[in-house]
Amino acid sequence: MAEEHVLVVEDEVKIAELLRDYLTAAGFKVSCLARGDEVLEKLKGIDPALILLDLMLPGLDGISVCREVRKTADIPIIMVTAKVDELDRLLGLEIGADDYICKPFSPREVVARVKAVLRRTRPSQNPRRLIAGPLMLDEETRQVTVAGRPLSLTPSEFSLLNVLMAHPERVFPRADLLDKVQGYSFEGYDRTIDGHIKNLRKKLAAILPDKELIHTIYGVGYKFSLSAQTL
Ligand code: CA
Repeated sequence: MAEEHVLVVEDEVKIAELLRDYLTAAGFKVSCLARGDEVLEKLKGIDPALILLDLMLPGLDGISVCREVRKTADIPIIMVTAKVDELDRLLGLEIGADDYICKPFSPREVVARVKAVLRRTRPSQNPRRLIAGPLMLDEETRQVTVAGRPLSLTPSEFSLLNVLMAHPERVFPRADLLDKVQGYSFEGYDRTIDGHIKNLRKKLAAILPDKELIHTIYGVGYKFSLSAQTL
């Protein structure tokens, strides 16, 4: 397989160099940018497998960059933030990032997270087509339709829906979903699943306002079900 290309958007030169060195050593091709407002232009010339995106950037901040990229491409995006308390705010926003990393980070952890995100966003070996009520999910084309209308999902939202739809009525604990969707499960990151679920529900509700498909199982996690919740 050709080496996968990672675009690092980071204005702190030392951090950018550290990431470049570790990612290169792990077998990735790496491009670096120091300004947020140069990302869209850069994407006209390269087609990265993943973007590592710092939150605070000159020109255009990471949230705006993420939203702009999402309008035209479903490249997996990992947001890098300087503060843990920013994470809650980020998760509450619908910015469409696939994962979040807090500074200071260990470069090894970043490499592991990059690999995990790439692993789960790669097309599956034996693609299936899942159908449940008005929902259709095609693993090969990575498209989802609701009542025949296409649903635009981020790679993480797609993986999450894929896991839940493949096992209707099965209750998945948050940590299990995190493990299945992100490829790892770190303590304290359970709430990233809540963020993805919230966004997924919002998108489903935009087409099917009266039907709850993803059910919260209080104190445990989530399940996919076509029947009305009985609690
Ligand atoms: Ca920065």
